Amino acid sequence: MDEKQVQKRLKKTVKYAVLTVVVLLITAIFLVLFLNSTVRRTVDEQMRNETDEYVRRVNKQVSADLQLLETVASLLGDSGITESDGFSEIMEHAYEQNDFLTMGYFSASGDGVVVSVDGAQAMMLDENQTEIQSVASEAFGGKTVISDLFWSSLTDETVFVYGIPVIENGEVRGALCASDHVEIFTDILNGKRVMGGSGRIHMLSQNGDFLIRFGEAVVREKPVSIFESPYLQEYECAEIQRKMQENQETWFSFRYDRKTYRAFLEPVGINGWYLFCVNSVDESSALMLFTVKVTGCIFAGVLAIIALWLVFAQRVVRKNTRELQELAYYDTLTGANNFSYFRQLAGERMRETANCTIVSLNIHQFKFLNEMFGKERADKLLCHVADTIKSSLKYDELFCRESADYFYLFLRDTGREQIRKRLEKIMEKSAQYSADSREGYHVFLYCGAVISSKDEVVYTLDQMMTHVMFALAKAHETHQNNVWFFDTKLHEKEKMDNYVEGHMYQALENEEFLLYLQPKIDLRTGGIGSAEALVRWQKKDGSMIYPGEFIPVFENNGFCTKLDIYMVEKVCRCIRDWIDSGFDPIPISVNQSKAVLFEKDYIGRIEAAVRKYNISPKLITLEILEGAALENAEELNEKIQILKEDGFCISMDDFGSGYSSLNTLSRINISELKLDRAFLKEAAEDQNGKSKVILEQITKMAQKLHIRTVVEGVETEENDRMIRELGCDYGQGYYYGRPVSAEEFTEKLYGTKGVL
Ligand code: C2E
Ligand code: MG
Ligand code: MG
Repeated sequence: MDEKQVQKRLKKTVKYAVLTVVVLLITAIFLVLFLNSTVRRTVDEQMRNETDEYVRRVNKQVSADLQLLETVASLLGDSGITESDGFSEIMEHAYEQNDFLTMGYFSASGDGVVVSVDGAQAMMLDENQTEIQSVASEAFGGKTVISDLFWSSLTDETVFVYGIPVIENGEVRGALCASDHVEIFTDILNGKRVMGGSGRIHMLSQNGDFLIRFGEAVVREKPVSIFESPYLQEYECAEIQRKMQENQETWFSFRYDRKTYRAFLEPVGINGWYLFCVNSVDESSALMLFTVKVTGCIFAGVLAIIALWLVFAQRVVRKNTRELQELAYYDTLTGANNFSYFRQLAGERMRETANCTIVSLNIHQFKFLNEMFGKERADKLLCHVADTIKSSLKYDELFCRESADYFYLFLRDTGREQIRKRLEKIMEKSAQYSADSREGYHVFLYCGAVISSKDEVVYTLDQMMTHVMFALAKAHETHQNNVWFFDTKLHEKEKMDNYVEGHMYQALENEEFLLYLQPKIDLRTGGIGSAEALVRWQKKDGSMIYPGEFIPVFENNGFCTKLDIYMVEKVCRCIRDWIDSGFDPIPISVNQSKAVLFEKDYIGRIEAAVRKYNISPKLITLEILEGAALENAEELNEKIQILKEDGFCISMDDFGSGYSSLNTLSRINISELKLDRAFLKEAAEDQNGKSKVILEQITKMAQKLHIRTVVEGVETEENDRMIRELGCDYGQGYYYGRPVSAEEFTEKLYGTKGVL
């Protein structure tokens, strides 16, 4: 995982963490709002319950009073006692037994008796206050009524009056009136505040005027009606009034003295009276709100701790990640990138542009330096090399230490000379370290480099990393500050050499070396005079490898001796098959490498081959290279002599390709001279005809020495014409026929494959 990915993951984690905190925060806000509204609902509920209770108590009191008065009224009505006789006593008695302020009885005619603390006295109805008169007159109508509150001139206080019809024999005889002061309600309403001390209850008339105001009312200004400020705002009044007229309960809130109050209006059910409950929201829900706030605070605290913890965790993770990254991405000794990080970065940079050079830099014999310097100083040398490389890098370039003394560089330059100069400078500076030290040992470095360039070859990073090792190995072969550039052709060649060397024995065993034949044309007759055996290596997969790719390797490693004898045997077998098929065999030349000629038992093996297949040595021509002839002419001549005596024909191949000298012809006793195709090519292309003259002279000279001439590389009709004119004996080349398999050759030459 690279740094970017780690950062990405970290960011993701932080994002989720922040999201969680936000979600928790929103949840907390909703929770607080929910709790708040629950608290308010609960408080409203409580207000209603408590007001209900007071309504119930007022009603209970009124109905108790009315019950009492109705008892008295029925006593008066059905007693049979006349008003003049005993009403005063009954009234006095009833007055004493109850708590009314005054009691009175009025007959329908308007006369009556009123009992007060001063005793009973006769009084006409119209002598009483209008409130009493209207209550009485309603009672005369058979209704039980309760007046509104009014100021009593009799008792000097605010009172109200009950009016009960007194019925005798089903007819209203008069009206029983009883006044009482408002304290009966005040008793009920005063004293304790409601809502655990935060609420007050008042009584209102149906039009909103205060009938009973709680002593310690919230609003100190004592407005007459609730339809005055601060209770209700103008825009609210109409709605509340409507509800009150319809005897509906209603709620509203108001602000007073920087506090919010909740108000509840509940009809009492008597005279349109209302109980008006006012409650301080803040006070009543103080505990609840406090709890909510504390909960909120705890929540916020927890969130803050989580947030802090997250920040802390993120820092720790970052720090750990950085440390891990350092371990994962960097080399602990030199501080350079490590190999895998280098590869990753180089890969990324190569995606931007493929133009770059990968260099592998190494120190010669570092393991011995380790021993010689000791680990500490060797480490210092590595750090010095790393510092040197680092200071030489340009923008967008990289380096790393893979292990031990293996350094890799990613450079943006792609010019060989430029790179060579830069690397030589690095190597020089790096070597300076040991030159300055007391050991007096000179450190040598070497580099392999591979260039990827759009103008030449573009490689992938993987290819470059493989190729750079190849170049480094090449550079290692020299023992001085050296830079070796990877070369595709060379690499391909080395790869092939490697394949050839690794598979040659197996190929021989598997008979992968095939016999191909190319015709040699007898220029006098124009027919195929003989053929040259040319080897082909056909791999198991059917692909073909040509001699140019493996003969030089075999010549180097000595395998040629095996192959040459093998080919001689193949040729002998081919001739045998021709004879067995009844064909007239033509001679075949076989190429013989220098090494095989000097093999101890060479002649014996060649002789054994012809013997084995029982063919005449005359049918075999041995082609030897002029180079072989030059080196050890005497020994070679001896062998040639024996072979010639045996009947074999000896040909000198590729004459003129190397440092040929005409002198060779006199030193080596050959029967055939094969002129290298370069000769013909030159003669054909030559403007002033010099090469042609040389070719002509060589041919003439050979003729004089009784040596047959074969011209190689005849590719065109002109070539053919020219060599005929020059008097050459044989011609060989694509013009006459390319090398083909022995079977194909046989078919072409004899018209059938025979036993082949
Ligand atoms: P070589 O002995 O000089 O063989 C002639 C080469 O020239 C052959 O290449 C042939 O295919 C090629 N050639 C023939 N006519 C023409 C032409 O008109 N134009 C051109 N451009 N080329 C022509 P090949 O088969 O690839 O063999 C290359 C060389 O490998 C041979 O040169 C020979 O030195 C060596 N060689 C081939 N077979 C054997 C073998 O069995 N043993 C040894 N020791 N060497 C072999
Ligand atoms: Mg040859
Ligand atoms: Mg040749």
